[in-house]
Amino acid sequence: MTSKREIKCPHCGLLSLYSPENIYRPFCSERCRLIDLGQWADGTYRVPLKPQDGYQDADVEGADDENSDLQRSEEE
Ligand SMILES: [Zn+2]
Repeated sequence: MTSKREIKCPHCGLLSLYSPENIYRPFCSERCRLIDLGQWADGTYRVPLKPQDGYQDADVEGADDENSDLQRSEEE
């Protein structure tokens, strides 16, 4: 009976139960779900113009990747 899975809440990062019991999944609570949806509606998230199928974990802090990319091209 260890089929229950826990995932990180996309909004606050807390572990939440990923099962039919958690009606707010993948979020941990109604609050996180509403907040997250609200941010989407506000355009707070940086979303690509073209909607893509694979909605990955909100990668909002991807600014560092650009820096590492620059460093890599300098080395080459
Ligand atoms: Zn949460």
